[in-house]
Amino acid sequence: MATITFIGLGNMGGPMASNLLKAGHDLTVFDLSETAVRALVDEGANTADTVLEAVKNAEVVISMLPAGQHVETVYLGENGLLAHLPAATLVIDSSTIAPETSRKVADTARSAEITFLDAPVSGGVGGAKAGTLTFICGGEPDAFERARPILEGMGKNIFHAGPSGAGQIAKICNNMLLAIQMAGTSEALALGVKNGLDPAVLSEIMKQSSGGNWALNGYNPWPGVMEGVPASRDYAGGFLVNLMTKDLGLAMDNATANHSPVPLGALARNLYELHAGQGNGQLDFSSIQRFYRPDPE
Ligand code: NAD
Repeated sequence: MATITFIGLGNMGGPMASNLLKAGHDLTVFDLSETAVRALVDEGANTADTVLEAVKNAEVVISMLPAGQHVETVYLGENGLLAHLPAATLVIDSSTIAPETSRKVADTARSAEITFLDAPVSGGVGGAKAGTLTFICGGEPDAFERARPILEGMGKNIFHAGPSGAGQIAKICNNMLLAIQMAGTSEALALGVKNGLDPAVLSEIMKQSSGGNWALNGYNPWPGVMEGVPASRDYAGGFLVNLMTKDLGLAMDNATANHSPVPLGALARNLYELHAGQGNGQLDFSSIQRFYRPDPE
């Protein structure tokens, strides 16, 4: 078992840290939110007043932060962790951020002989709670092998996508596809309901037909069709629209830099930006359903 410090205990990080405790690791946690920290301390984690104190004895540091600027703040600069961690510490960043930011942090880590792995995840809050996340890693093969047993405490599928930044690139591609699928699924459901079809019946038909996809299987966007998903609790919790627009922005930046045409991704990005601009940024991303038909019954 390892001595681990976990930074960022939000919708995803909270349950991930909880699973590390259940796996028997010696865990210290840190977050800017006292409430988030208290929940983990109640489960048996240690904590500290500052992030620097929190990593004092860490063999492994894991972070799950909202975006690139938070990752840079935590790791880079005079007060950043990389200037203070001992050589040979394994740092795993599971936040979804730009591949360039991830590579910049990895380069700084390398010059301090610290091992850094980008390891963004897929599987949502449900996967984080169940310990069935998919980890998509970028970094040296030996760093990946060192991280694997720890990641297995939080996930089911652990992939090595390639060198530093490759995990982020694969994750960005996946989330662009997810946004396109969720918008398309919402559009099809709205069309069917407009024609008088029952959304649950239509969902089952499409699930068993060639339109079947991840949203229909386990994350239906129409309220009341599926129990336990954000659509059935007014789109609270889950994966926020603001985080999806961030990820689609990362995909657009990357596509521009690589001269890769992404017309459907661009459309999905604009749909989600419009939706966020209408005050829905803090709702789950399946609330794009409301864009097609406000307040579906
Ligand atoms: P969140 O906003 O719920 O949690 C982020 C946490 O980080 C918050 O508790 C916040 O207080 C903390 N934080 C911010 N700055 C900090 C700092 N400097 N020091 C310590 N703590 C700090 O976000 P989330 O939904 O848990 O997502 C985290 C990351 O995972 C994002 O990059 C997101 O894109 C990605 N992701 C989310 C989901 C999902 O379904 N929510 C799925 C896959 C990937």
